[in-house]
Amino acid sequence: MSGADDLARRRLRLGMVGGGEGAYIGGIHRFATRLDNAFELVAGAFDVRAERGHAFAESIFVARDRSYDDFTAMVEGEKNRPDRIDAVAICTPNHTHFPIAKAFLEAGFDVICEKPMTTTLDDAIALHELAKATNRFVGVTYTYCGYPMIHQAQAMVARGDLGAIRVVQVEYPLEWMASAIEAQGNAQAAWRTDPKLSGRGGSVGDIGTHAYHLAGFVTGLKAQSLCADLATFVPGRLLDDNAHVMIRYEGGARGLLWSSQVAIGCSNGLRLRVFGEKGSLSWWQEEPNTLSYTRLSGAPEIIKRGREDLDPSAKVRTRTPPGHPEGYIAAFANLYAGFAEAIRARRETRAPSEIGMNVPTSADGLKGVAFVDAVVDSHEAKGCWLTPRFV
Ligand code: NAD
Repeated sequence: MSGADDLARRRLRLGMVGGGEGAYIGGIHRFATRLDNAFELVAGAFDVRAERGHAFAESIFVARDRSYDDFTAMVEGEKNRPDRIDAVAICTPNHTHFPIAKAFLEAGFDVICEKPMTTTLDDAIALHELAKATNRFVGVTYTYCGYPMIHQAQAMVARGDLGAIRVVQVEYPLEWMASAIEAQGNAQAAWRTDPKLSGRGGSVGDIGTHAYHLAGFVTGLKAQSLCADLATFVPGRLLDDNAHVMIRYEGGARGLLWSSQVAIGCSNGLRLRVFGEKGSLSWWQEEPNTLSYTRLSGAPEIIKRGREDLDPSAKVRTRTPPGHPEGYIAAFANLYAGFAEAIRARRETRAPSEIGMNVPTSADGLKGVAFVDAVVDSHEAKGCWLTPRFV
């Protein structure tokens, strides 16, 4: 394995599983890895169909001898190379995350895994334990905590600008699955609506997990119990396409989470509003460069990304001056910058710098899967209040 000295003189070497031709999130990962020059993509098993994967590898200039038929061959091919990859990014459908992550962890690689981390709670527990046992880093791509204004919101809540939190409203509505597109050849919708491939949650696993993570990330609150009502509006669909979840947080705050794949008119409308005894905050993913803050009896203040007086955690995740918009790719790149710093710091046995702190890991992935599990259990028990097993 490459030592700390070697690491100081080069970028981290990344491999990717999934993310081939026509795939969605793999391309976003590749954009994100390039922004800070912290990674170079040198290996992959990019497609479930090997030949398509090799053609794709060629198109993005990954060497033929490091384009693998599948992830098992990739582990075998990489593990004894002197220039082996440092980490693998897993950009495949949910049901494959666990076996792929397990194989790479057991071979001593760090892992960057898409959410939801696994399709079952048992697998999530096993993966989190394996990360600890192998002393490997597992980052989980909860994209939205990459935004600088989300870090600003977290800092403001933590320093008491809102006072004690009373109400947390979070919603993630999408419209793209408002009709049965899974039956009309849409590959992404097809696996997302198959419980064997997606897990127990439909909308709640796919996007509810993002909303749940974001609410917890900003407020620092842990769920005490939840009560869920799931619906499947599109005929023939096997998983929920709409979820309403009431959440009671430790300390008495109340939360309401809505995830929907059938919300016509909504593109990527992730929105978080937090109300405390002294003030409130509001943030919307489609306008991510601003945060609205209102003090008790005050007028709303629009806080812009890039301002000099923002929290260091927001400033370090900011690339351009205020007024030059930054967005989704930059937020994803902030996650990757954080993963790179976390990985380097561990190898060099030092504390990470600001960007490498507070990054989502397998502990967060485990909480996300526990949330999905509790939501589906609650719904199946006709909306009884349940405590997620990990919060
Ligand atoms: P997709 O269907 O667009 O792409 C999946 C890719 O994985 C394809 O290239 C497919 O060939 C490949 N693949 C499937 N099984 C494979 C295997 N065993 N080995 C190698 N390659 C394999 O899916 P997507 O929309 O990109 O979603 C992928 C993952 O990313 C999912 O877990 C999803 O929940 C997650 N996701 C996360 C975000 C985010 O904001 N973080 C956004 C979208 C999707």
